[in-house]
Amino acid sequence: MSFESLGLAPALVSACAEAGFTEPTTVQAQAIPLALAGHDLMVSSQTGSGKTAAFMLPALHRQLAGSPLRAAGVRILVLTPTRELAQQVSDATRVFGKALGWLKTTTVVGGMPYGAQLKALSRRVDVLVATPGRLLDHVQSGRVNLAEVETLVLDEADRMLDMGFIDDIEAIVAKTPASRQTLLFSATLDGTIAKLASRMMRDPQRIEV
Ligand code: AMP
Repeated sequence: MSFESLGLAPALVSACAEAGFTEPTTVQAQAIPLALAGHDLMVSSQTGSGKTAAFMLPALHRQLAGSPLRAAGVRILVLTPTRELAQQVSDATRVFGKALGWLKTTTVVGGMPYGAQLKALSRRVDVLVATPGRLLDHVQSGRVNLAEVETLVLDEADRMLDMGFIDDIEAIVAKTPASRQTLLFSATLDGTIAKLASRMMRDPQRIEV
């Protein structure tokens, strides 16, 4: 099994090789082809499974079809429960994003000063990685436009719900286009997660690894 055989663009396959990834992990092998086919996904996966690349590679692949001159606006939005996870996702995105030289990634998390975030949000943002509370704050102040989002990722969705972010998530998702692709990753997929998915996703494919 190779990254190439999953259908990823050559530039992303090279980025994987540069990152030292020789073979896809199980969750990557299962999720990437379905995501590239345009499906919404509900994926049960743990930290360490390679889930970040499982959502970011297909999200970036979709952007390779676009041109850097297209209307600016956030096109990949990743919601995470914690600032540490947001930083990890941003770091991974920058590694893979070398395949798209023009890609700008910004991180917006709670517990950090507003100054640097306001400055970053006033510039071009292609990929936004955020915790829900602080992002909603910026959205409500009109500093972030989510009308161009093409891929929405809910990372560690169960932890976000445990932390009480449900209303913030709903308010944020309501600002994204209904035509978006939604990729949900969570340790568990039942109960409240299944309910959340039924409200936010279109015929999601379930992947349990
Ligand atoms: P994650 O589950 O996304 O937090 O990834 C866990 C760790 O596995 C990270 O350090 C990744 O860089 C690494 N990783 C992800 N996918 C692969 C792969 N296909 N081959 C080798 N390492 C990987």
